Amino acid sequence: MASPFVRPYVRPRSPEDYPTGPCFTAGHLVETNASWRSERPVLSVERCTGCLRCYLACPDGAVLRAGAAVRIDYDFCKGCGICAHECKAQAILMIPEEIKDVR
Ligand code: SF4
Ligand code: SF4
Repeated sequence: MASPFVRPYVRPRSPEDYPTGPCFTAGHLVETNASWRSERPVLSVERCTGCLRCYLACPDGAVLRAGAAVRIDYDFCKGCGICAHECKAQAILMIPEEIKDVR
């Protein structure tokens, strides 16, 4: 019987060395936000450097690549705030849902 292939570990040196995306696509085995989210992430395109830390860290696959930057899929975002925590450029702010005019 053949042995399973074990991929050798190579320490990533930049975001480009990481896998091309989260382990699943948003919408797989999850339900759309049912309006229970208390805060939502709001992205500043001007501040975003395109480093993709938020894209790699979002546990719900709700950060999508959009050209050289990212965008947030609010249908699947749970409002956990991990993306804002991981963004070193402070390009993501968590805004209370009751404040409607910021997006
Ligand atoms: S972590 Fe911040 S700077 Fe990096 S891609 Fe996400 S929003 Fe942009
Ligand atoms: S708040 Fe949480 S679920 Fe929403 S985009 Fe950020 S990391 Fe993903």
